[in-house]
Amino acid sequence: MSDKSHAEYRKRRVKRLKRMIVGGIIILISLPLASSIWLVCKLHSKENELAEITAQYMAQMQIMDEMQQRFDEENAATEQKYEDLLKRISEQSAEESVDTETQEETWDGIRRVYLTFDDGPSIYTDQILEILDEYNVKATFFVTGEEAETNPERYKAIVDHGHSIGMHSYTHKYSEVYKNKESFIKDYTKIRDYLTQTVGVTPTIYRFPGGSSNTVSATDMDELCEYITDEGVRYFDWNISSGDATRYALSPDRITANCLNSLENYHTAVILLHDTGTKYTTVQALPSIIEGIIEMDDTQILPITDDTVAVQHRKSKEIE
Ligand SMILES: [Zn+2]
Repeated sequence: MSDKSHAEYRKRRVKRLKRMIVGGIIILISLPLASSIWLVCKLHSKENELAEITAQYMAQMQIMDEMQQRFDEENAATEQKYEDLLKRISEQSAEESVDTETQEETWDGIRRVYLTFDDGPSIYTDQILEILDEYNVKATFFVTGEEAETNPERYKAIVDHGHSIGMHSYTHKYSEVYKNKESFIKDYTKIRDYLTQTVGVTPTIYRFPGGSSNTVSATDMDELCEYITDEGVRYFDWNISSGDATRYALSPDRITANCLNSLENYHTAVILLHDTGTKYTTVQALPSIIEGIIEMDDTQILPITDDTVAVQHRKSKEIE
């Protein structure tokens, strides 16, 4: 090879090498650049997606907020309706009682108040008994068949403390108690026998679940009232409701006010209270209820006995 051609060959090699290096540099630069551009584009589209999802989420949250608000409003309206209904029933029975009482010429001038506790025994029975003892007051417990282990003692305690015990059905399930006359008799017999066995006395008073004027019974209430009366048992409703049966616990002040507000309209006042595990505010209200009654002139708090004037929403034949 001549010097000339050797030089040319070297020149070409250098040139090729240069091209390769430049090409390599271009590739090295453009690869990350391209992937960066791709990433930026991708990020942008993801951002759009995210914005869309956020917008959808916000819209759904708003719908849920609106639904919740509507639900709360409807709930409040239902609660209000229920309270109004209770108030109306209480007022109605108040009017009826006042009506009958104004005809009573034999009234001896003593107002008789009967505190009645439904649905027990419960975890609060012991506390209720303690408070009643503190004020030396006797009350009436319309109990159901509570099978918890500690409860047989509580039925006995009610009687041992000198209070009256009455029946309030065994199951307290409207669908069972009021299904038909046979199932009512079955339930009635069960609570009567259970109490006879547990406390050693057969009770002679009964309170219908929901009262004798309840509108949920699938059986004619007149028929059931007649059955109970024929059994030699007297049923008692109430003319003053503490309002403590509402789903949300009322404040002790409210319960006390409900019990005392219309008390002076009555010669015979039967106050409806509840002894259940969800009614602690009733226990808290009890001392001020008792104090409020004790402060009234010519007023006595008594347990329901066979001599008590029956307060009934639906009058039994015996009373008519
Ligand atoms: Zn009840």
